[in-house]
Amino acid sequence: MSLSKSEQMFERAGKVIPGGVHSNARYLKPYPLFFSKAKGNKVWDLDGNEYVDYFVNHGAIVLGHAYPQVDEAVRKQMESGLASGYESELTVSTTEDLVRMIPHAEMARFAGSGSDAVMSAIHMARAYTRRKKILKTEGAWHGTYDYVCASYRPSLDKAGPKKTPRTIPESAGFVQGDIIKNTLVAPFNDSDAMEKIVKKNRKDLAAVIIEPIIHNCGAIMPKEGYLQSVREITQDNDVLLIFDEVITGFRGAPGGAQEYYGVEADIATFAKAIANGYQIAAVVGKKDILQVSGPDTKKGSIGGFGGVIFGGTFHAHHLAVAACKATMAELRDGKVTKHLNHLTDKLRKSVEQISTELHSNIRVEGLGGEFTFFFSDHEVTNYREAISTDSGTGARFLKLQKYLQDRGIRFLPRHIYHHGFSYSHTENDMEELALAIRESLPHLGKQPAREDLQEKHKPV
Ligand code: PLP
Repeated sequence: MSLSKSEQMFERAGKVIPGGVHSNARYLKPYPLFFSKAKGNKVWDLDGNEYVDYFVNHGAIVLGHAYPQVDEAVRKQMESGLASGYESELTVSTTEDLVRMIPHAEMARFAGSGSDAVMSAIHMARAYTRRKKILKTEGAWHGTYDYVCASYRPSLDKAGPKKTPRTIPESAGFVQGDIIKNTLVAPFNDSDAMEKIVKKNRKDLAAVIIEPIIHNCGAIMPKEGYLQSVREITQDNDVLLIFDEVITGFRGAPGGAQEYYGVEADIATFAKAIANGYQIAAVVGKKDILQVSGPDTKKGSIGGFGGVIFGGTFHAHHLAVAACKATMAELRDGKVTKHLNHLTDKLRKSVEQISTELHSNIRVEGLGGEFTFFFSDHEVTNYREAISTDSGTGARFLKLQKYLQDRGIRFLPRHIYHHGFSYSHTENDMEELALAIRESLPHLGKQPAREDLQEKHKPV
């Protein structure tokens, strides 16, 4: 398989784009592939290689690439000439659709990206509660807003105690001291640990932000009752709960994780799949909270009557809103989530069987079409366990990725990342994937002795 055109393009890109990519997450060793086309369940790279795509644009492609109903809605909207900057019947009716679709939502506002929506949700929570601090879980990625962009991939020797992890800002250019002071970190799936941190900080704590399934270090599922406990802890301590549904949004159930797990958040953020890959995000929640970001109609000020600024030229861009409306129309009756859950469940069971037969420890976790492979003998319940799987290096997963890619099945070569089915993926795709995994296992190298890497990486 030739990849020479991608290699050449990467060289060219590096001359004008730092690192050769517009989002650092797109950089892959030795060079990222460059693509020319996507349709349905497939993508084609510059060399003309065809792949069944399991990247699905970081989870944004829920229906399939260039899904006809969505693209047709966008084309039709284009004819109106409206792009960004104006409100219209479309922006209002799509917000109504969103509020109807999401349990407990009373109001919503469109934003430009997931990071933008998360930032605004936190501004709202702080203004509403008049408190500064927020709490996130270790390993969760909530985008690039400074105060959540911490302790995403901390090295285990710096991460601090297991039950009270240190806050480690992820970027230079942040005001590190402010983040360390105002962003608290708790381990996922440990409600006792979270409760202690919340109680200790309740007077200063505005909100707990949580990804119901931590997708950006694989797909770490919440233990039964965990999300309910987080709701109780936040309620008992008068702290807001933000569900970051940027990936779970409209996958496990048409109303997202709030519907699937039956847990009510005060604010929820959405992006990615709500418009099948078109650029839009949303902050959704209780009326009295969302309204702190509304404009001060008396003063005509942009600061908002609750003091929170909310705005952007590209908020509710008409082409993205049209895509969002068409995507929700496809998702509403549940046929899409049913298909995605079916494929994920079947893949999990097939891989479990293969793993047992071939004495491997590969396992699949996930929901609603977003899943991961863990090389682990046991269920993975938090970041520290996830990063320690596959010898802590991802060596076997990277071999698996190469094996699959050579057979036209595209996963990102990245240890503990989330991958996805879209509605355009078929049962046959899933079976071919399972078969390719079966064939690959003898080529992945010797399985290390039972990995008790938590021991090896004892927290300080
Ligand atoms: N929240 C979660 C859970 C995400 O996975 C992401 C992106 O991967 C974000 C927020 C940020 O979204 P965006 O990349 O659109 O800024």
